[in-house]
Amino acid sequence: MDVQRAIAALTHKGFAVRSFETAKEAADYLAESISGKTVGIGGSMTIEQLGLYDRLTKNNTVFWHWRTDDLATRVSAASTQVYLTSANAIAETGEIINIDGSGNRVAATLYNHERVVFVAGVNKLAPDAESALFRARNVAAPLNARRLKRNTPCAVGKVMKCYDCDSKDRICNGVVTLLKPMGGVGVTEVVLVGEELGY
Ligand code: SF4
Repeated sequence: MDVQRAIAALTHKGFAVRSFETAKEAADYLAESISGKTVGIGGSMTIEQLGLYDRLTKNNTVFWHWRTDDLATRVSAASTQVYLTSANAIAETGEIINIDGSGNRVAATLYNHERVVFVAGVNKLAPDAESALFRARNVAAPLNARRLKRNTPCAVGKVMKCYDCDSKDRICNGVVTLLKPMGGVGVTEVVLVGEELGY
């Protein structure tokens, strides 16, 4: 993984990039830089591992369906000032890739926030856009299907890969690739962490 190459490419494309050696440093930075805001959080093991929900609720109004699992929370999260999530893969050439089943997470990253932050461990990096998409489909999605105990071939089969299934439990219905920051978002930020986080 070439973190410096990723930082250079993401910066060149117009993303605001911060990098930290540890998850704790990244969590401290985010907790300190988000205050007095409405905050939405997408489904993300990375954000969970950073322990950000508990820290942010002290100084912000936070909407996260992993804490309050209803439609109103998902809808509110989509129109907050700040939106936090991770990425299924980030290419060292500067593309950010996310796969979603229901769409609330990827939709919320695209529009109507003053700040969107993608937090990603080094395990999310891939050399180029093609290999990043491969990672999102064949590593991140199967691991998430297993976490969710879905009855999909990637979750119950011996070989962990995407089978492009027709299962009712399928979690991969849309792929969003950010080629550059979206025009409807004030600042799109990437926080890279020198540890493995999430899937
Ligand atoms: S499309 Fe189906 S098999 Fe492929 S990763 Fe998604 S849930 Fe698994």
